[in-house]
Amino acid sequence: MDVETIGILGGGQLGRMLTLEAKRMGYRVVTLEPMPNSPCGQVADEQIVAAYDDLRAIGELGARCDVVTYEFENIPLDSVRALEEDGRLVRPSGDVLRVAQDRILEKNFVSAAGCAVAPFVAVTSPDELEAACATVGFPAVIKTARGGYDGKDQWVARDRAAAIDAFQAAQGVPLIFERFIAFDLEVSVICARGADGALVRFPVTENQHDHGVLATTIVPARIAASVADRAATMAATIGERLGIVGAYCVEFFVADDELYVNEIAPRVHNSGHYSIDATQISQYEAHVRAICGLPLVEPKLFAPAVMINILGAGTGDRLVGVAPLLRDPDIRLHVYGKRHAALRRKMAHFTVLGASVDDALGRAEAGRRELTWIPSASQERAHR
Ligand code: ADP
Ligand code: MG
Repeated sequence: MDVETIGILGGGQLGRMLTLEAKRMGYRVVTLEPMPNSPCGQVADEQIVAAYDDLRAIGELGARCDVVTYEFENIPLDSVRALEEDGRLVRPSGDVLRVAQDRILEKNFVSAAGCAVAPFVAVTSPDELEAACATVGFPAVIKTARGGYDGKDQWVARDRAAAIDAFQAAQGVPLIFERFIAFDLEVSVICARGADGALVRFPVTENQHDHGVLATTIVPARIAASVADRAATMAATIGERLGIVGAYCVEFFVADDELYVNEIAPRVHNSGHYSIDATQISQYEAHVRAICGLPLVEPKLFAPAVMINILGAGTGDRLVGVAPLLRDPDIRLHVYGKRHAALRRKMAHFTVLGASVDDALGRAEAGRRELTWIPSASQERAHR
């Protein structure tokens, strides 16, 4: 298979880091994304500025690329189907996307693959909501079946009244009603799988969230080796059964050494950012290799690592404290090229390698404390 040009649906930071690796490996990259000058578009050869459901633009992307991939799972399935009907190669396929973008299909699929999930039911009507309150019980997490990300479009309900409020707030879109899992921690496993079935696994990572948004990733996860092995095996099984070609992530809750699959992301993932700096092959390179038919190799971790997401605070668009942060020789900073640092928007991240997880964590927290957002010069001018 001879790939010269890779197409990416989506233009965020995942697409940007994927593009930087693809460029290093000699590929051309075209991204399709509605927002001009996107994080990915800034580093790609071309950006097609168009909506994800603009089938003419989608057709143009397909015509310019040898393989098309995506960097988030909420692109319309019809757009991927249109590419496939045109005879374009899309990796992972539309069949994979269909399952991963619908929490009900996803959880049914995961259960059928023999992996535990939080007890759940689909809710599309007030009657089904009543049944869910009775069978699943509380506390519960109610999420839109489709379209959510970074904890958006979900509600934690402690009782029936709160569940009814959530149902009304959702305004009739299909929901999933899940049992709240009082987890000890959250972990994820990133794998990459080739079209020939070859599969490699990254180390299990521990993920800490802030209001549903990933804040910190710790590698390796602080869990028993036997639990980590089970998570890795489950992640591999899921990818094989789904027939994913590319990098993907499986998120888990760990409660009393039991593992519950939370969700599947059929793409590179925020919890794998650390791999740019801490493994000899990053998740981005692994994805490029997988979709371009190149060999996959087992990732090797150089040292314990901690990745800190630098989230917007809504207090200004200028990041200060970078100079003191970068005094630590084992910290590497990655900035995404977004202008506005809205509250909890993913703006940048840094990774620190340490002698131990505790060492890396201590230095990561020290680094995080250096950083604050203040108004930029143009914000000051606009204010005057
Ligand atoms: P998203 O697609 O927005 O990432 P997730 O289903 O991963 O949605 O939910 C975001 C976060 O919310 C999770 O990482 C977890 O911290 C919390 N969460 C979601 N579902 C549950 C649940 N059933 N029990 C406990 N916490 C949950
Ligand atoms: Mg998630």
